[in-house]
Amino acid sequence: MAWKCPQCGFVHDEAALRCEACGFTRAGKLVLVAEETSRRLSVGVDTAIGKHLLRTFAGGDHVYAAEPQFLLARDLVAGGWSIAPAPGAMNPTFLNGAALAGAPAPLAEGAVISIGPTRLRLRVESEP
Ligand SMILES: [Zn+2]
Repeated sequence: MAWKCPQCGFVHDEAALRCEACGFTRAGKLVLVAEETSRRLSVGVDTAIGKHLLRTFAGGDHVYAAEPQFLLARDLVAGGWSIAPAPGAMNPTFLNGAALAGAPAPLAEGAVISIGPTRLRLRVESEP
C-alpha cells in the first residue's frame, strides 16, 4: 500500500521508510527485544507497557515494572516513536542509562530502555 508523507504530501511505496523529498521518517512498527530472553514484542499502535505485558516476553525483571511502567507513542510530527514514563511508576524508567524526565523522548534504533540503570533491559529495533 502506498503512503503519503504528512509533511510534504509526496507519495511513496510501502517499502520506503523515509520521505526522500523532505526527510520525514515514517513510524513503522517498533520492536522491543528483551536482552534476558531474546524474545520480541512488536508494537504498531500507541501502547502503555506494564508488568503484565512485560511478563509475557521480558523475563523475571518484569517484577520491577509498574502497571503501566512507560508509554510508547508514535510521533506524527517528527516521525518515529517516543517513550514517556508513566506517572506513578515506583521505579524510574531509563533510556540509554539516564532516567527519563516527564517529557516524551525520541526512541532511536538501538536505544536501550531499562528500569533503573540495569533491570529489564529492552533493546529498540524498528521494522516497516
Ligand atoms: Zn515528505
